[in-house]
Amino acid sequence: MKKVSILILCLLFLCGCQEQDKPAKLRSKTVFAMDTVMELSIYGDEDILTGSENIITDAEGRLSVTRPDSEIYRLNKEGHGEVSESTFALLKRSLELCELTDGALDISIHPVIKAWGFTTDEQRVPNADELNALLETVDYGKIELRDGNAVLLGEQMQIDLGSVAKGWLGDAILDYFRSNSVESALVNLGGNVQVLGAKPDGSPWQIAVTDPSGEGYAGVVEITDKAVITSGGYERYFNQDGVRYHHIIDPSTGYPADSGLLSVTIIGESGVTCDALSTALFVMGLDKAADFWKRNDDFEVIFITDSEVCITEGLASVFSPLGKYENTEVVILQRD
Ligand code: ADP
Ligand code: MG
Repeated sequence: MKKVSILILCLLFLCGCQEQDKPAKLRSKTVFAMDTVMELSIYGDEDILTGSENIITDAEGRLSVTRPDSEIYRLNKEGHGEVSESTFALLKRSLELCELTDGALDISIHPVIKAWGFTTDEQRVPNADELNALLETVDYGKIELRDGNAVLLGEQMQIDLGSVAKGWLGDAILDYFRSNSVESALVNLGGNVQVLGAKPDGSPWQIAVTDPSGEGYAGVVEITDKAVITSGGYERYFNQDGVRYHHIIDPSTGYPADSGLLSVTIIGESGVTCDALSTALFVMGLDKAADFWKRNDDFEVIFITDSEVCITEGLASVFSPLGKYENTEVVILQRD
């Protein structure tokens, strides 16, 4: 159901660009976790690649909202509890991002996500009364973090780290590669691409961004040491009575965000931040999201609508449109 949404063009033509005295060997591994096909590629030893599987298993085991043995599941069931150091740190950062985005990101959205059936295979359209009642429980401001990694949720509240978990995991995998002296790596966690360093020949990685309006790709961006993280309504959805309902919910309405954007790609240093912002800026829509970008300077954005691609000024020299967007002018947002 979940499409692998980004192509790693660069891997196709890497052979032949290696230093002669120290040939870097590309090794890749595919893992299925968090309902996502994950592709890990490094220039380094096989055992480092194998070791990264433990990080994935651990993250899924802690953060899954559907596995009865996860920390988040237990928290949602009991309303309070102690969590591990890393889950606590992720909750803390997520709450900062909920605040920063003025609630466009709200990790307490889970009861609404559940009502739509996005965590199961039985999707449905809840009625407005049901959604309004559930929205009463949605308010990240009522999540309390206390000493000793203790978390207290508000009445009936349930949290869902689906918007940030893969970004966190990408950061953790790249940290692990870095600490094992890997200098060049790429992880593709289904729509979330994060790279360590440049390609072994020193040139940037070329990451293709999916065309959210059809098949193929909307553009390519060249990056080094960055995350390229996309949220789009095309990633997970169902159709009912001719209407498409997708999985990114506007916490102010309880309905799938209908902001006119088809996808938002965030490019920056931190996977968690980029993941959170891709979801939040998708909810905000182009105008509010552009204002948000103007007030915050640690990331760049590719906004895609049905008819155009809008990029922030920092991408002007590293983004090239593809497919149907090749013949339309790319709009460049300036900070003024
Ligand atoms: P994906 O996981 O498909 O890459 P996102 O990073 O945008 O996409 O995260 C979407 C997931 O986040 C949803 O499946 C849901 O679990 C959760 N979610 C949906 N809307 C919101 C929101 N407004 N705030 C926080 N989490 C959300
Ligand atoms: Mg996200």
